[in-house]
Amino acid sequence: MRYVSTRGEAAVSAAQAVLNGLSPDGGLYVPESIPAAPAAWLDPDISYTYQALAAEVLGLYFPEFGQEELALMCREAYAGFTAPEVTPLRPLDAGTWLLELYHGPTLAFKDVALQLLPRLIVRAARLTGETRTIHILTATSGDTGKAALEGFRDVTGTACTVFYPKDGVSDLQYRQMATSQGRNVQVVAVRGNFDDAQTGVKRLFSDPDFRGQLNGVHRLPSSANSINIGRLVPQIVYYFYGYRALRQAGRLRAGETMDVCVPTGNFGDILAAWYARRMGLPIGRLICASNRNRVLTDFFATGVYDTHRPFHKTISPSMDILISSNLERLLFELCRRDAETVRGWMAALKSAGRFELPGDLLSALREEFSAGTADDGQTRAAIRDTFERSGVLVDPHTAVGLSVLSELRGQDLSQAVTLVNATASPYKFVYDVSAALGLQTSGRVFEDARALARHTATAVPSSISALETMEIRHKEVAEPENMGDAVMAFIGKES
Ligand SMILES: *Cc1c(COP(=O)(O)O)cnc(C)c1O
Repeated sequence: MRYVSTRGEAAVSAAQAVLNGLSPDGGLYVPESIPAAPAAWLDPDISYTYQALAAEVLGLYFPEFGQEELALMCREAYAGFTAPEVTPLRPLDAGTWLLELYHGPTLAFKDVALQLLPRLIVRAARLTGETRTIHILTATSGDTGKAALEGFRDVTGTACTVFYPKDGVSDLQYRQMATSQGRNVQVVAVRGNFDDAQTGVKRLFSDPDFRGQLNGVHRLPSSANSINIGRLVPQIVYYFYGYRALRQAGRLRAGETMDVCVPTGNFGDILAAWYARRMGLPIGRLICASNRNRVLTDFFATGVYDTHRPFHKTISPSMDILISSNLERLLFELCRRDAETVRGWMAALKSAGRFELPGDLLSALREEFSAGTADDGQTRAAIRDTFERSGVLVDPHTAVGLSVLSELRGQDLSQAVTLVNATASPYKFVYDVSAALGLQTSGRVFEDARALARHTATAVPSSISALETMEIRHKEVAEPENMGDAVMAFIGKES
């Protein structure tokens, strides 16, 4: 299987696509053709563990990685998940099922891909003859950084530096990162906001001096962000797994479709559902749920993607995004892989902050997607209603999905059995979840987590309670302009 860029560059191997992350022409890699799912995946009588199914999905996209190697990677990647099914389903009512994606080490769905990505990168390096250590550089507003730190920790042949805005992450997120273990991971607080950290990382990637210094110590910089095809493919797996579980529970008949509802930010998670559908999974509608940063909702309504709007900080921060990078892959397929058209849209986005789809393409898009928005008030209401009706506690991101779904159902736009992605543990957002339920909080996060557990008869995840007594191991602070020096100093100490 070879990979082409959405902006037209010649095809590269799967291994090269995983190592590069972004194509040199600025585009995103997509498989030369989207493979079809074997019939066995849709047959609920043939049993598959999550790991076995994952190995088969990966095998279709990355055949050169070797089936046995992929199977081993999947077993290792998901060994640390606290649910034996990896992504278990939980019914809210007969027609609404949560697909719980947050049972990995950092309690958010990004673990599903980021526990695999380091292994894919190491394998890709082996296959391309790359002998340098792959040094991951990531800026984070909270969740991705910790998921990357856990994924790359002690993976031979890799190292990982995470930069976070010094006063810009939550108490829990700070503790999660600052207590990180592993000899090859570095955590740096940047004096500035998320944009300063992000711009700093981008500058390092394009700074020939810094790249030269890294090369001098036999390292290659790389990124773990969600445009890497190695993050997209592992996310296809759980849609098949969820479908099979619904069939096995007798909730869907053969040939019947399910809808999926995905709280969306960078468009990676819902794009994986679109791929699953294209591979043959019986999905009816793809429901794209946004918070108040409703660029995508407006795009699906009007065909105009317009970033000229205020940026809102919401209680679902991982969806506070105005440029959803992975959309480019969908656009590429929508215009029948016409890279020139994609280049035009992306150039307009860069220069004018907007682009517009022609009417026929918008209609085609709307045959597959529905979209909706929930503001913070609606999000809190969905947390409260879900708990009162079903006794299930959901996080604010998941609640955005549930709110949008119930609105669409009210308009008779979705009646099928629906999988709703539950993307984070409610305990990652103790204050907002408690407030939605009308509970007083003290501002002492572990105490508040225990109070939430008592009130809802749920359990504080052990990876959160463990943080209370874990040693703070990372105290490094850097100015935005000294981020490269911080990395080099770390490498000096590490080796
Ligand atoms: C990243 C994230 C999302 C958004 O996923 P995308 O793939 O960026 O659309 C939703 N919820 C949570 C908890 C996340 O961490």
